[in-house]
Amino acid sequence: MLKLLNVEKRYDNGVSALKNVTLTVEQGEFVYLVGHSGAGKSTLIKLMYRELVPTSGFIQINNFDLRQMKERQVPQLRRTLGVVFQDFKLLPKMTVGENIGYALQVIGKSDSEIKEAVEQVLNDVGLEKQADHFPNELSGGQQQRVAIARAIVNRPKILIADEPTGNLDPQTTEGIMDILQRINNRGTTIIMATHNQQIVDELPHRVIEISEGQIIRDEQGGQYTHEL
Ligand code: ADP
Ligand code: ADP
Repeated sequence: MLKLLNVEKRYDNGVSALKNVTLTVEQGEFVYLVGHSGAGKSTLIKLMYRELVPTSGFIQINNFDLRQMKERQVPQLRRTLGVVFQDFKLLPKMTVGENIGYALQVIGKSDSEIKEAVEQVLNDVGLEKQADHFPNELSGGQQQRVAIARAIVNRPKILIADEPTGNLDPQTTEGIMDILQRINNRGTTIIMATHNQQIVDELPHRVIEISEGQIIRDEQGGQYTHEL
């Protein structure tokens, strides 16, 4: 469902952020991407939702060939993915419900379908009472739950998260991880970049470690740090 073959990404300034990355992820996996700041995790994630195009190599996600695809096909790819960021990226002038429903409105769903889908995902993340609030009225953890609800409202096959708990305290982080685990239990693939050692060690899943743009470890049920 997700396949990268010899992927290289060089930025315009000459920085080689990824080198020769080959990777396969199957439906239903939960994958942590770990590595030092600057290792290339965000670059890899941006290639997956085609925010960036690789300099060379092959990327296939949910049967889309990301190198060959036309710009106008990018929205179709993105509908099969959900993406969550460290800084939530909610639209401040929209309510929680509007933030979540917006993507469905864009693809022409009816108001009643949208209302039902929004209620369902708000329930999934435990925020059923917050639909009419604005993002700035919520705590960071609540805002991240809204962002997750927005990311899953389309029922994506893959949920991609770049440091989703980076701005959250440990207790709030635990709540977010519970939600991601539940989403994974329903069959959604999770790919999550993180610096949080405690999460990786306490909720073991496949660990892919990146260093200087290369995969240096790929381990099922791995710990955050690798003992040699
Ligand atoms: P990580 O997410 O692991 O911290 P990044 O993917 O953000 O790593 O960065 C990998 C490397 O690419 C770093 O050297 C970073 O400075 C560089 N980089 C990231 N984004 C850009 C960009 N837009 N232009 C140039 N270099 C970039
Ligand atoms: P992260 O590690 O979460 O990507 P950064 O602070 O490294 O966070 O990067 C923030 C933004 O700046 C990203 O969009 C990244 O692509 C961009 N960026 C990072 N390094 C560089 C760089 N050397 N030159 C230009 N843009 C960069």
